[in-house]
Amino acid sequence: MSEKKIPYKIYLEESEMPKEWYNVRADMKNKPAPLLNPGTLKPMTEEELGVVFCEELVKQELDNDNRFIEIPEKIRDFYKMYRPAPLVRAYCLEEKLQTPAKIYYKFEGNNTSGSHKLNSAIAQAYYAKDQGLKGVTTETGAGQWGTALSMACSYLDLDCQVYMVKCSYEQKPFRREVMRTYGASVTPSPSETTEIGKKILAEHPGTSGSLGCAISEAVEVATHTEGYRYVLGSVLNQVLLHQSVIGVETKIAMDKYGIKPDIIIGCAGGGSNLGGLISPFMGEQLRGEAEYQFIAVEPASCPSLTRGVFAYDFCDTGMVCPLAKMYTLGSGFIPSANHAGGLRYHGMSSTLSQLYHDGYMEARSVEQTSVFEAAEQFARVEGILPAPESSHAIKVAIDEAMKCKETGEEKTILFGLTGTGYFDMYAYEKFHDGKMTDYIPTDEDLKAGFDGIPRFPGNME
Ligand SMILES: *Cc1c(COP(=O)(O)O)cnc(C)c1O
Repeated sequence: MSEKKIPYKIYLEESEMPKEWYNVRADMKNKPAPLLNPGTLKPMTEEELGVVFCEELVKQELDNDNRFIEIPEKIRDFYKMYRPAPLVRAYCLEEKLQTPAKIYYKFEGNNTSGSHKLNSAIAQAYYAKDQGLKGVTTETGAGQWGTALSMACSYLDLDCQVYMVKCSYEQKPFRREVMRTYGASVTPSPSETTEIGKKILAEHPGTSGSLGCAISEAVEVATHTEGYRYVLGSVLNQVLLHQSVIGVETKIAMDKYGIKPDIIIGCAGGGSNLGGLISPFMGEQLRGEAEYQFIAVEPASCPSLTRGVFAYDFCDTGMVCPLAKMYTLGSGFIPSANHAGGLRYHGMSSTLSQLYHDGYMEARSVEQTSVFEAAEQFARVEGILPAPESSHAIKVAIDEAMKCKETGEEKTILFGLTGTGYFDMYAYEKFHDGKMTDYIPTDEDLKAGFDGIPRFPGNME
């Protein structure tokens, strides 16, 4: 095949968009461990999960076998509002770095919510509506997930109640207003509106909150209000499944031009964008058809893969959610006020944790000042103003491209550019003013988190 000139941006036709999500669990020999009921330590049944989540989503959560799951037409139509997402060849960045590496990024920031989260928000809202529910509750950290969910809910005429981590609620008033524009109600967490919120406030007065706290509150409201269920923006198997649309689209675009990535990089908070981006490539690797180097990038302030333990732990601070086996810092771990709010989660997707544990993926942690340096370097040549979360992937992509410059290797590097940073200008301001700090937890800090992980036979002994 003659080599085609690769355009700056590869856009698929609407007719080429994926009609199925890809479920990487079907190709995993070691399946992600099941969620456990914290009371009985037995795997959560469909019935038990159905109290918290929508029926169809429970099925997806438990489905370790079906490789492909059809994307309902209504969801595909919604996707067309902002997809296909472009696969960009970063010619300008390559030129600036003077690297022989070929750099590509899949840009997911082309929608009002500003991130990939809309891919799962519309799916979860769709199944809630399909089940005849009145509304959904959720948590949001930096606000991207809450914004995405409020957009999806307004489209489907569902009520949307968002618990927003208090420090973000205060630091990011604009995101809050975007959510309200789409009709969501937004409560700063921890709040007095739930029992668990009151308890957390009594124990930690003045806390700026965490994702783990906000999850507890949102679950409490969902399970105590008729016609409501809880939805989660990351971590769960179902979310990785929905986000596979990122990877499947990327693979279709790359195959069209005969491009094969050597290295695939993504930032990892709960693992959904990374899991989605790598899924079809990981599938090939798991089936022995191809080999790739996968790199998860996390903040040094919240290093669940690089410094956490692989154990069953609570997904939330209030310990009301099921136990998930994952790389975790302990559900009581509250990371320092890092500006990449979407990466401040104590755990990691069970699917990615298992793949990492089995040696299929690497992980790196990076400090936030170096992340903002990379973000600025990228913005100045590629034009897009990246989200701090996404910039973790940029940082490592640049590091890898610079290694190629030293060795002369022409590696093809693909990374996920998950979103834009327009609502993160406070963080950029701190960086520009030289006031940004890099807080890295000490071993003692981490030990305090690990001490909170439940002990039972086979876990943390
Ligand atoms: C939420 C978010 C992330 C991290 O979440 P994952 O589930 O790990 O993908 C990364 N980037 C952006 C822009 C986000 O909003």
